[in-house]
Amino acid sequence: MNGKTHIIWSLALGVLVAAFAHASAIMTAQLLLIAFVAGLLPDIDHPKSTFGHWFKAVNYGVKHRGFMHSIWAIILLTFIWWKLFSPENLFLIVGVSAYTLHLLLDTITPSGVCWLYPVGRISGPIKSDGILSFVVLILGIVLFAIAILFSFSLQLHIF
Ligand SMILES: [Zn+2]
Repeated sequence: MNGKTHIIWSLALGVLVAAFAHASAIMTAQLLLIAFVAGLLPDIDHPKSTFGHWFKAVNYGVKHRGFMHSIWAIILLTFIWWKLFSPENLFLIVGVSAYTLHLLLDTITPSGVCWLYPVGRISGPIKSDGILSFVVLILGIVLFAIAILFSFSLQLHIF
């Protein structure tokens, strides 16, 4: 899945978590930043991705959609973020959720994801540059808009 799709779905997730947690404006901004970074982080293993461009994973022998796109990376990062963010568990929840969401979105593409790297590849039919990928992006935008409206409605005590 492409970067724009990962970003919009991650931000929608961040807005929803912030809304349900009745987060302050500063906390919401922090959660959105974490959602943004965590939602793009798995692709650090791709040399042309946002973070991979700096990291140059291929120089370290890291395979694209290998370890960084597996349950093992989720477990490792959960442990690291637990140490970093504890006791602020909202950061942990958004970070792990956005990272996992990235893997779920990649799973529906033909390349798929090796959840139990190096085995257990699961894939789907949605090509990253196809019309269905565009539909997933639009769904993410709609979800983001709903999340924003839901967030405002909670602040105005509509629900
Ligand atoms: Zn990816």
